[in-house]
Amino acid sequence: MDLLEHQAQELFAKHGVPVSRSRVASTPDEAHAAAAEIGGRVVVKAQVKTGGRGKAGGVRLADGPDAAREVATAILGMDIKGHTVHEVLVTEAGDIAEEYYVSLLLDRSHRSFLALASREGGVEIEQVAAENPGALARLPVEPGTGLDRPQALRLAAGAGLPDDVHEQVAGILVRLWNVFRAEDATLVEINPLARLADGTVRALDGKVTLDDNARFRQPGHPQYVDVSATDPLESRAAEKNLNYVKLDGSVGVIGNGAGLVMSTLDVVAYAGEQFGGVRPANFLDIGGGASAQVMADGLEIILSDPGVRSVLVNVFGGITACDAVADGIVQAIGLLTGPGETIGKPVVVRLDGNNATQGRKILAEAALPGVISADTMDGAARLAAELAGKGA
Ligand code: GDP
Ligand code: MN
Repeated sequence: MDLLEHQAQELFAKHGVPVSRSRVASTPDEAHAAAAEIGGRVVVKAQVKTGGRGKAGGVRLADGPDAAREVATAILGMDIKGHTVHEVLVTEAGDIAEEYYVSLLLDRSHRSFLALASREGGVEIEQVAAENPGALARLPVEPGTGLDRPQALRLAAGAGLPDDVHEQVAGILVRLWNVFRAEDATLVEINPLARLADGTVRALDGKVTLDDNARFRQPGHPQYVDVSATDPLESRAAEKNLNYVKLDGSVGVIGNGAGLVMSTLDVVAYAGEQFGGVRPANFLDIGGGASAQVMADGLEIILSDPGVRSVLVNVFGGITACDAVADGIVQAIGLLTGPGETIGKPVVVRLDGNNATQGRKILAEAALPGVISADTMDGAARLAAELAGKGA
C-alpha cells in the first residue's frame, strides 16, 4: 500500500525524521487558514500517489495566506497522471541550499534490504542511476542487524555528500531505517532530502510503501487504506479474509493455492483467445483448507461481479481432498440459492488430485443445474471461456 506524502511524513515525524511543519487542506479556504497558521512563505503540494508532482505543476510556492488560497484553487481538482487532487499539503517553505536523495527498499533480486543515497536529489532517481550512476551509492542492509550509524556514515560519504552534513544525514538514515523496520515498509524514500540555508537537513518530500502482508501486526495501518479508491468487490473480499484481486475479464476464477490460480488465469486467457478475447475476471485463492463457508464466500463475491459470465473452479486436492471440496461446493451452492433457485451463471468445476474420483461422483450425484464437471485444466478453461464468450 502506497501512502500519500502527508501520511509518509506523519510516520517520519513519529520516528524522529525531521520534516517541515504542515497542515492538510481540502478547500482553498482551508489552505488559506493553514498558511496563516504556519506563517511566512509556504509550499502548497498536491496529495496524490504518484511522483513528478513538481513537474506537473502540483507543487507551488506561495508568499502568504492569500497566495496559498490562490494556488490551492489551481491545484485542487487537478489531474496528475490520472490521479485527481482532493487534498493539498500546506508546508512551511524551506530555503533550499542543496537537494539530496536517500531511500531504503526491499531488494527482491538480492533477497535483502538496500539503502541508497545520492548527492543529486530533487530529480528522478532513475535518471541519476541511468545518467550518472557514480552519484548513487548503495549499501545492502542485513535485515537482522539493520542500518547502524557507522554504515550510514559510510553511505553518506560514498554518495559524495559534503562532509559537514554526514553526521546529520547518517542520523536521518538510521531513523529512516527505524521507520522502515518498525512500520513494515518495503520502501521509504526522501527526495529531496534538503540542506537548508541555515545548515539543517530536512525531508521535504516523503514516499512510503507499506507491506500489506504485515497488516496483522500493524493495528495503526488500516487508517491509511483509501476506501474510496479500493474496488468494492475487493473490499468485501478483504472483509471475508479472501485473497481476491479484481481483473476486468468475464471468467470468474476460484482455485486453491496461489500458483495454481495464477496458472489458471494464464490458461483461461489462452483458451479465451479463441472466443473473442475472453479473459479472467479475477484472482481468487481460497487456500488449502477450503471449507464450504469459504467456498460460498468466494462464489458469492465472484457471482456478484456483473462482468462475470461463467465461473471456473479449479481445485487440486491435497490435504483437503477433492471429496471434501466437492461437498463444500454443493453446500456452498445450497447456501447461495433458495429452493428452486439456480446459481444463474454456469460453473465449471475441475477436480484433480487426492480423491478426485469421489469428488466428481459427489458433484454428479448432486446434479446441480448449471454446474458442469471437466476432467482437465485445459478442458475446463476452454469450456468456461466458451460459455463466457457466448454470454451464457
Ligand atoms: P515531487 O515532484 O512529486 O517529487 O514533489 P516534491 O515534494 O519532491 O517537490 C518537488 C520540488 O519542489 C522539490 O524537488 C523542490 O525543488 C521543490 N520544493 C519542495 N518543497 C520545497 C520547499 O520547502 N522549499 C522550496 N524552495 N522548494 C521546495
Ligand atoms: Mn520528490
